[in-house]
Amino acid sequence: MSNLKILVINAGSSSLKYQLFNTETSEVLAKGLCERIGIDGKVKHTPAGKDSYEADVNMENHGDAIKTVIKLMTTGDTAVVGSLEEIDAVGHRVLHGGAEFSKSVIVNDDVIAAIKKCIPLGPLHNPANLTGILACEEAMHGIPQVAVFDTAFHQTMPQKAYLYALPYEYYKKYGVRRYGFHGTSHMYVSQKAIEFLGKPAEELKIIVCHLGNGSSISAVSGGKCVDTSMGLTPLEGLPMGTRSGNIDPAILEYIMDNENIDIHEMTNILNKKSGVLGISGISSDFRDLYAAKDQGNERAAAALESFIYSIQKFIGSYAAAMGGLDAVVFTAGIGENNAALRASVVEPLGFMGIKIDPKKNEVRGTIDISAEDATVKTLVIPTDEEFAIARDTERLVSGK
Ligand code: ADP
Repeated sequence: MSNLKILVINAGSSSLKYQLFNTETSEVLAKGLCERIGIDGKVKHTPAGKDSYEADVNMENHGDAIKTVIKLMTTGDTAVVGSLEEIDAVGHRVLHGGAEFSKSVIVNDDVIAAIKKCIPLGPLHNPANLTGILACEEAMHGIPQVAVFDTAFHQTMPQKAYLYALPYEYYKKYGVRRYGFHGTSHMYVSQKAIEFLGKPAEELKIIVCHLGNGSSISAVSGGKCVDTSMGLTPLEGLPMGTRSGNIDPAILEYIMDNENIDIHEMTNILNKKSGVLGISGISSDFRDLYAAKDQGNERAAAALESFIYSIQKFIGSYAAAMGGLDAVVFTAGIGENNAALRASVVEPLGFMGIKIDPKKNEVRGTIDISAEDATVKTLVIPTDEEFAIARDTERLVSGK
């Protein structure tokens, strides 16, 4: 990387997370979070090596939030750069790029129009992401803005992986197809895995298990995504913290009729009250679930089993889809930190050559946790979506 300072922005509907990177050293110069934008406003700003600064700051909108961030980064005790001019570019996380974007792009009027066009596909996130871009354009005039899409890495999927068996006109008219999410993470982690394995990307078939609050699995063959578990929206695939993942679609009508609820409430239940929270009735956090299971809670155990079983099925099906497998990679909050879960996932997969060394699995920071006689590697690679966004932004603005 060259020596650029890149601000990474992840704008939500009432929040704005940020990190400022020095791309030469990969150092995070500052990071923080503006919350309750449009309500009252709270900010937490952490300059590298210093205590966090926390304050109530009235922020009417994302424009106010970005001005607050600039002020904190450039003035007083919280400053990490001399002036705004030292920031070379801004990279924005954008949830949904539809079929419009297969890679990151420098923002211009056409890009803004295309992100707007994708709002129906990402109605909760895209408007907020766009607001973040427009606020930065206004407050940081002339500094290039880059959009990095959660869906972009998955655009290489073949039609057989992305087409749903629905009337074709819905695909044509409304863009109903699999898009996939967590793309920045799947791309970053699969590239790291390829580097680690030290073989040409073309020769490698990898399954990336991004297991966090939201979880998704992707099949990466020859360095390209060929399938992924999330779909039109992040609701599909594995059961997650609070999302149902795959279910029989006919369940919706059945529950709606019985409970006398409408489709909005049903969708809310599928997104917020299902997954391991739904099964366990305890928590969406895997630490809580393991603690409850250890105390004999059967529903917590059932939730964990269901999650683990689903991961195993995806690994088996993606190995079949790719016609082979060289490595399984675990990443994100659960994948990186929960050794017990990793051990449970791979336990029945020995017949595929997936075997871990229990000791290596327990030692935090070990990348290759495979057993000596494994023919498929099992790796633990920490994801860093913000850094990946900074790296892509740098690549685009420096014309690499
Ligand atoms: P998000 O999808 O919100 O980014 P994360 O990737 O942070 O979520 O994952 C959150 C999950 O990771 C939680 O279920 C939590 O139990 C688990 N997790 C995070 N950190 C740890 C840790 N140090 N030890 C065990 N589990 C952890």
